[in-house]
Amino acid sequence: MGVTRLEINLNALKHNYAYLRSKLAKDVKMMGVVKAFGYGSDACEVALFLEELGIDYFAVAYAHEGEALRKAGIQIPILVLHPQPDNFKVVIENCLEPSLYSARVFREFSAFAKAHKQKHYPVHLKFNTGLNRLGFWENDTDWILERLKETDAIKITSIFSHLAASEDLEEKTFTQHQIASFTKTANTLLQALDDTPFLHQSNTSAIINYPEAQFDMVRTGIGLYGYGNTPKEDQNLRPVACLKSVISQIHMIEPNETVGYNRAYTATHYEKTATIPIGHADGISRAYGNGKGYVTIQGEKAPIIGNVCMDMLMVNITGIDCKEGDDVTIFGEEVSAVDVSARIHSISYELLTAVSQRIKRVVLR
Ligand SMILES: *Cc1c(COP(=O)(O)O)cnc(C)c1O
Repeated sequence: MGVTRLEINLNALKHNYAYLRSKLAKDVKMMGVVKAFGYGSDACEVALFLEELGIDYFAVAYAHEGEALRKAGIQIPILVLHPQPDNFKVVIENCLEPSLYSARVFREFSAFAKAHKQKHYPVHLKFNTGLNRLGFWENDTDWILERLKETDAIKITSIFSHLAASEDLEEKTFTQHQIASFTKTANTLLQALDDTPFLHQSNTSAIINYPEAQFDMVRTGIGLYGYGNTPKEDQNLRPVACLKSVISQIHMIEPNETVGYNRAYTATHYEKTATIPIGHADGISRAYGNGKGYVTIQGEKAPIIGNVCMDMLMVNITGIDCKEGDDVTIFGEEVSAVDVSARIHSISYELLTAVSQRIKRVVLR
């Protein structure tokens, strides 16, 4: 296909889902994290397919992401990790389940639910065990239990926390401390509550590195999309998204001619360049310019030369047997998003989620 597109391989998704499931103890549920457009892929296509495969729960960051899933027909529960009072209406209208992570959000959501005549509306309590991003503190449990006595508008469906460095085994002591802190808080609440909320703390790397911390459910994002945060786990997973483009035009240039804005590249020989219709507005950071990044054409690496433009970039294809209209791969199965992103000291997560909405998504079944 002769345009820039992000191919989404549902077979790879199925493989990753099965692989991650195989790591879970019996009866542990799986939550698919489909925030940020499904890590830059297509949240609705991915979620509909995972729902068919039997995933138990979804998580999104913001309420509007959950609304989009409901519009696409997703039926299973959706946790909103970062709800904000301005979006509580969207939460309730779409049967989304908010994470209550602070006294302010707890108070405001309980009041909102009550004002909207809700009874036992499902909510999730988020505890900060060391990431220091969102969450109640360990010693907030008394306050929470007091507030719960005053209302029947909400019901605690789960209790959770998030690990700061589950992929880094040098931080094992810190991670174990987070797991212990979470266990303690959860036990305090479980003893005091009539209901039995379920517990979850693990992200993808914790599924692999801390099997003892699976509790009742795990939340997996990056693993579903095919990346495991270590070369070994990357081998066990398959990239779901593959970013491809085409050669729009080929130029033969002479020594001392320059390429692109600010004349940042100067040819040293007779060279062949190709112009590719993808730029920084599409998520290919300017940092990839001037030889930092590359694309592959006919299986060979073609370095990006000069500055990445808004809608295009130029690569050196000297010595590569190719023609206008040929396919170009930016990342995917043959070129790992891990290796590409590492060239600008970034991570797979950032490269994947940067792929702009301007790029056509093509689902391969
Ligand atoms: C994004 C996110 C996840 C998923 O993490 P991965 O490393 O992609 O598996 C899990 N939990 C929370 C709270 C998150 O914000």
